[in-house]
Amino acid sequence: MENEKKKDTFPRIQASASSLRTSNPIREVVDRIDTSQMNKNKPMIPLSIGDPTVFGNLNACEEAIQAVVEVTKSCQANGYPKAVGMVEARSAVAQEFSTCHCPLTAADVILTSGCSHALQLCLEVLLEPGKNVLIPNPGFPLYKTICDYIGAEARSYALLPEKEWQIDLEHLRSLIDSNTKAILINNPSNPCGAVYPESHLKEILEIAQVAKLPIIADEIYHQIVFPGNESIPIASLSQVVPVLSVGGLAKRFLVPGWRLGWIIIHDRHNALAQVREGLERLSTLIMGANSLVQAALPNIMKNVSNSWHLSVLRSLHMQANYSYERLSHMVGLEPVMPQGSMYIMVGIQVTKFVDIESDIDFSQKLLNEESVFVLPGQCFGAKNYFRIVFCAPMDKLAEAYNRMSEFCTRHVRTVQ
Ligand SMILES: *Cc1c(COP(=O)(O)O)cnc(C)c1O
Repeated sequence: MENEKKKDTFPRIQASASSLRTSNPIREVVDRIDTSQMNKNKPMIPLSIGDPTVFGNLNACEEAIQAVVEVTKSCQANGYPKAVGMVEARSAVAQEFSTCHCPLTAADVILTSGCSHALQLCLEVLLEPGKNVLIPNPGFPLYKTICDYIGAEARSYALLPEKEWQIDLEHLRSLIDSNTKAILINNPSNPCGAVYPESHLKEILEIAQVAKLPIIADEIYHQIVFPGNESIPIASLSQVVPVLSVGGLAKRFLVPGWRLGWIIIHDRHNALAQVREGLERLSTLIMGANSLVQAALPNIMKNVSNSWHLSVLRSLHMQANYSYERLSHMVGLEPVMPQGSMYIMVGIQVTKFVDIESDIDFSQKLLNEESVFVLPGQCFGAKNYFRIVFCAPMDKLAEAYNRMSEFCTRHVRTVQ
């Protein structure tokens, strides 16, 4: 009997150390939030996930959908593309991002499975255990997740809320050492909604040039900027500093599930020759991005009109303004007006509340009592802030802010 039982067992299979040290800060914080005590009388309003398609009010452009339908029906794009991507699609990206100061060709573009994959390739090609990269704080959690996996250090530089989330340049400079391999910037930014002016981008370039470091520029929100701000790819401002710019279709074209991103290699004086080879080699790991979306890319870029992009932008700008306006009238909250993207960061003045101890506590109680889900700032390294994704339709936003306002009034300390 004992022997029989032993036969049915199997020794435990070990997972690799690199897989087990891979951690996603959003998951870790969100998993600590208990959704079981949610107020069942109020339908849930999720303002938590950075996916513009959640509510169905922001839809992909008809021309983009048509382009994918056509290549699918043609049966001409069912095979393996080249690992770095189809040349026509890479040309389309090169053309879109070329300027007279930085002309690009298909050879400067590598297509990837979303911008996340582009970030992974850029970090993998530059880093290894013992090395570090400088990343923004507050910032997009994936940067650290990828570094954890590689076994390299993600070193956080501070962004300053009082300076519209520009980089604390002194702090950035102080973190550089002989093991630093790159400076990663995110502009326009998630979660802050910051858009850097030309002068600030030049200051960052200056630091990179002196330290002889390449820049990884996460520019997935390129062009998603509100009136009065300019969306400037950092590579367009330097003839010297090498830049790996990453982007993709996800946010600007409202199709995150299509999984198409890119790396644009802005090489200066052949500084990136070996990096380019490394990136090409790494791209073979997954044999290239989705063939249908790649094949449709030239028509997506050509046929989706500027007026469609402008109408999406008008809508996001209205949602941003409305969010800021409502939030700035709530006791105990300090929103920072975004200059672009789909996010607004809101400061919590914990001392003004009777029983709110932290951003996690705020998010948990708001969810329990009002069924409104926002992400605590700690997901992004920002204690006592929370992030709102303002993509929801206006009536949903209005309802969410009505509930949030009542919540704040209920929990705020009454003046003696
Ligand atoms: C959404 C997002 C990405 C990832 O984009 P995908 O193309 O969906 O992988 C990368 N960086 C930032 C800052 C983002 O917000």
